[in-house]
Order: sequence, then structure tokens, then C-alpha cells
Amino acid sequence: MANQATRSDFDQYMTPTYAPAPFIPVSGKGSVVMDQNGKDYIDFAGGIAVNVLGHAHPKLKRALTEQAEALWHTGNGYTNEPILKLARQLVESTFADKVFFCNSGAEANEAALKLARKYARDHFGEHKNQIVAFNNAFHGRTLFTVSAGGQPKYSQDFAPLPGGINHVEYNDLAAAKAVINNNTCAVIVEPIQGEGGVIPADTSFLQGLRKLCDEHGAALIYDEVQTGVGRTGELYAYMHYNVTPDILSTAKALGGGFPIGGILTTDKFAPSLAIGTHGTTYGGNPMAGAIGGAVLEEVNKPQFLQAVKDRHDQFIDRMTQINQKFDLFKTFRGVGLLIGCELNDAHKGQAKLISNIAAEHGLMMLIAGLDVVRFAPALNITAQEVDTGLDRLEAALGAYLSQGS
Ligand SMILES: *Cc1c(COP(=O)(O)O)cnc(C)c1O
Repeated sequence: MANQATRSDFDQYMTPTYAPAPFIPVSGKGSVVMDQNGKDYIDFAGGIAVNVLGHAHPKLKRALTEQAEALWHTGNGYTNEPILKLARQLVESTFADKVFFCNSGAEANEAALKLARKYARDHFGEHKNQIVAFNNAFHGRTLFTVSAGGQPKYSQDFAPLPGGINHVEYNDLAAAKAVINNNTCAVIVEPIQGEGGVIPADTSFLQGLRKLCDEHGAALIYDEVQTGVGRTGELYAYMHYNVTPDILSTAKALGGGFPIGGILTTDKFAPSLAIGTHGTTYGGNPMAGAIGGAVLEEVNKPQFLQAVKDRHDQFIDRMTQINQKFDLFKTFRGVGLLIGCELNDAHKGQAKLISNIAAEHGLMMLIAGLDVVRFAPALNITAQEVDTGLDRLEAALGAYLSQGS
């Protein structure tokens, strides 16, 4: 077929920014995906913690098509009903008094950091502009957010970078205390480092950061782009920790696969994002609003969130059994349906290879760095789908070992 798109078209027509799998997914339902050849995959990747209701969820299809019939876009000279409803849903279900919408996680963090700088300048003066961030953190790929991220390999080639950002060790409160002072305008932290290896914060660490921010008049920013919207079995991870931020960034799962991002904040900080200070053309458009609203309605129910915790236990129980057989993993980490399996030293660096072999066995999954296999499936994945996926993983791990790796 002359019109057929093939994997080699990627190499021919697209910048070499990614290394996508050799197969091309063409359709999906729930947590099962089909490729061009009709082969099926269990989806433990969830589009990188995005497809929170799986593929082709009837309620999201309805929200999308109904809104597509009504109104697509107006620009921010006009507001619209779906986004107002979503803002209200978010305010009513969280610490927030106000919401700003954008289109992605990086944009949400960009807005969060800009708000913190602006608030500090408005209330204390321009000397208060220092940002504290953490090693191995991931906050997105804009120049500001990639600089706030704690992996120099992602930022160094784009220098000169925005200044005033100090990185210290994650989960090391003493190190944070040493750099937080009255010139600090913000501390930005992931409650669970996602890309950095699925590393949950210690509760005492977040409590300590909260206290230091209060003492020094700095904004505590949680990057909940990966942990938000039910991922941990709570609507947001701060609820799991019971330590509340001043600004929270959200994206990924909020659109269930449709691009949307946003920041949640309080009446104290919100006025600094005054008219003309910040903006985006697409942010808060009716399509994103309608779908985000449907996602939130579905996810923010006690029985839905309980199922996330149940599936977590199922993953850990079965992975523990698999590991008794193969002795491949050092630890299992994570909360809810964000799970990281760290490889033993003998298998260091092999996460990508294992993920490739899993795909051959009909399983899509993620890695987090070179040594961690990561699962971030749809939150409504069924017990049966988890079982089937882990059967396939078990077969893949057997194949990996018998290759003599
Ligand atoms: C994915 C991610 C981002 C970036 O989101 P984009 O939508 O890719 O810009 C930022 N922070 C965290 C914690 C993420 O996981």
C-alpha cells in the first residue's frame, strides 16, 4: 500500500529526537493496544502515565465528540463553559482557590516558577529570586524547566541557562536547609520522582520543606505532572502525604490523552498572575476543558481510587513471586499505579533491553533511567489485564535470562 506509514518513515521524515519501538500502535481499547500487524499488547506504559482511563474510554469519546460538535477554540479573549467547570471541579476537590490552564507539564512548571518569582518580586523585591530544586528531578523540556530539572545531561547543551537555580540531593532535608534562605522564592519538588527512578519522598522531607518555605517566605511547588489525577490512589499525591503545597502543577493524566496542563494555587499567590503577566493561546480551550472534566469526574471517586491501591498490591505481590523465581530485582518502589522495579547490580543498565523483549512478548512498559523498569498503566486497568501483562513479563524475563545477558 503506497499510503501505508512505516516505522522507517520516522527515520526519514522526523527529527531523530526519539527512538520509538519497532512496531506502530494503531488502536486500543482499555489497556489493550493493537499494532499495524494485528498483534496485541497489554499496556503498562499508559502513554507515560497519561491514559488514565485507558484507550477509547466511552465517556471520554463522548466528551470529545460532543464538544467537537459545539465549540473548539476561542482564544483567551473569551472564556468557555467546559474550562470553567473543570476549574471549579479542581478547586472544590483540592487545596486550591485558583487555577491557570496551559497545554503540558513543562508549561505548567514554567508557569509555577514564573508565578513564584513574580510573587516574591511583588511582595519582597527582586533580590528574592532563588529557586531550590533537586538532583535527578524532571520538570520538562523548556529552557527554564529543564534547568530546574536535576539531570545536567538534558540541559547543558543549551547553555546559557536561566540562573538562580540551586540543586541539592532529594530526600536530604539538611542539604535543602543549607541552601534555603530569605532570597529563596521557591522550592520545586516531585512528591515522587518519576523519570528519576520512581523514588517517593519521605514524609518528613516534605514536612521539613513545608516548614522551611514558611520560615523563609518561599513558595512550595509540587510538580504533580506524573503523580496527579489519581495515580497514587489519591486525587493528588500531596493528599497521600498530607503536606500541602502553595502551587501544584498538573498535566499528563488530566487530559487522559488530550493535551492539557495547569497550575493550582491559592488566593495568596494567584493575584501575581495579573492581567498580561502570562498567557498561552491554546491553554484552557473548550476541547481540553470538556475532556479534563470528564476525566476528573471519573477518577475522583472513592471506589475508583481504591481500585488503584488494590491493583498496586496485585502488582507487588505478583512481582515478588516472579522475583523469587528469577532474582532480577533489588526493590519495588512507588505508590498506587506508579511502580518502579530496580534491577540487581548484576543486571544494571538492562532496563531498556528488558523493555524491548517485553514488547516482543506483547507488553508495553516504561523504564526510569537505565536500571529501573517502570509501570504507569491506566488507572482502570482490570485485574485480568494486570495478570495477563505480568504473565507476558514473566515470559519476557525468562527469555532475557536465557539469552545469557
Ligand atoms: C512528564 C513530566 C513533565 C513534563 O511534562 P510534558 O507534558 O512532557 O511537558 C514534568 N514533570 C514531571 C514530573 C513529569 O513526569
